Amino acid sequence: MTGPERKVFVGGIWHETNTFSPVLADVAQFEAYQCIPAHKLRLELAGSETEIGGFLREAWKSGIDAVPSGFYAAVPSGPVTLAAYAKFSTVLLDDIAASAGVLEGIYLALHGAMVLEDGQSGDALLLEEVKARWPGLPLVATFDIHANLSDAAIEAADLLIGYDTFPHVDMAERGAEAARWMAHMLATGRRPKKAWARLPLITVPQAQSTQDEPMAGLLRLAHAAEEGQGVWTASVVPGFAYADVPYLGFTALGYGDDGAAAAGVVQQIAESAWAQREAFVPRLETEDAVRARIRGLAGRPGLVVLAEPADNVGGGGPGDSTHVLALLLKEDLGPATVVLWDPQAAAHAAGQGVGARFARLVGAHSTPLSGDPVRLEGTVSDVRDVSYQRTGPYMTGQTVRMGLTALVQAGRVTVVLTTERVMPFDSDHLTVLGIDPKAQRFIVAKSGSAWRVAFEPWCIDSIYVDTPGVAASNVTRLPYKSLRGPMFPLDRDIAFEPTVQTRP
Ligand SMILES: [Zn+2]
Repeated sequence: MTGPERKVFVGGIWHETNTFSPVLADVAQFEAYQCIPAHKLRLELAGSETEIGGFLREAWKSGIDAVPSGFYAAVPSGPVTLAAYAKFSTVLLDDIAASAGVLEGIYLALHGAMVLEDGQSGDALLLEEVKARWPGLPLVATFDIHANLSDAAIEAADLLIGYDTFPHVDMAERGAEAARWMAHMLATGRRPKKAWARLPLITVPQAQSTQDEPMAGLLRLAHAAEEGQGVWTASVVPGFAYADVPYLGFTALGYGDDGAAAAGVVQQIAESAWAQREAFVPRLETEDAVRARIRGLAGRPGLVVLAEPADNVGGGGPGDSTHVLALLLKEDLGPATVVLWDPQAAAHAAGQGVGARFARLVGAHSTPLSGDPVRLEGTVSDVRDVSYQRTGPYMTGQTVRMGLTALVQAGRVTVVLTTERVMPFDSDHLTVLGIDPKAQRFIVAKSGSAWRVAFEPWCIDSIYVDTPGVAASNVTRLPYKSLRGPMFPLDRDIAFEPTVQTRP
């Protein structure tokens, strides 16, 4: 067949699971974030800067007729319930089965760090089941590089393509790349050879920006190989530190017609990453150091971001940590904004009404790692039900629900109490409330790196605060139990030589 006749299934489930968080991703959490049924997939994602948006855009040009199924995502959190996984994976599998007679390929948009409440990898389960039931159909998946890909997941998929950017601004490009290689496989009947290597190396979002070393250099190795002969695509996968699973670790992946070339680039990336492991250890400031840094900024007006990576909502942090909030309330450091997940406090403020006095304990209701609830005394300055569309470069156009949201003004500190957990991937979540980020002295960003796309244009400095939390950049704070062996930087002296696994 030629032209846009080759039918390829398109669907996905997306979750980044922080196994240290007790906040489960149940069906309601997916429904609150993103549940797109098959008949709305094109309507909602065609033209969006998402993997599926990119796949759909490229599909037609590549002679692929996309057969849409559902796409299901929840905000990063604790494990996905078995009921939620069963519900959404069943939709995808039933949809594949329903068109199996005409399908020529299967494309899945995955995250790669989905852990179910029984500890299994949801991504591997899905890929394995699809491959087992439809072994003859090429299976291609895209994934977030905050992924911990088990050998089972890599074995099951014919081709895995990870994002090349963090903060992630190339999701659509990677979806388009998936469509191109899918078309190539369908046209030639060929499957790529695979190579991969996993390192006993835990890295954290704060140190994974692809604009900076070491990630920038590692990606240059991948891109150079892709431009040469024999390698289709290579991915640098720093992994997701907050999933306590035996296959956690930095991974390099390569695919191509030339197995030796694919293995070669994987070896290069693995050796280079391992050699630079110290450069992945993030710089964090104690509270005393934070005070000193702030004193040093006196006389320099402008926004200072206080990043609290330990409560990184985009990495599964609950968003209710009070460690930095307590510091700001205790010391009048300047106009500051803190977004805090506390549905009960938001409802209480709404009940009090705008202009009323607010006095109650807020925050730290999910896990002891979030600290102690702090007493917030001030005035309710705004109450509304908030949802908005992201206008920044990250996940552009996505609708975000903050739910019932209340602002409490406590001196110069504005506390935004939200009903849904909010990932600070844009400045819209503040401007929609009438808060001008540029007019703030401090914004507390519960984020490892992604806050940079939201606030970096205006900020004169950023300070990473070393606090406890389920997404701590200081991973020695975390209670790992499932690791297969010693891992850097939990263990500093590890004798290790990267070895590459290959499949013909
Ligand atoms: Zn990510």
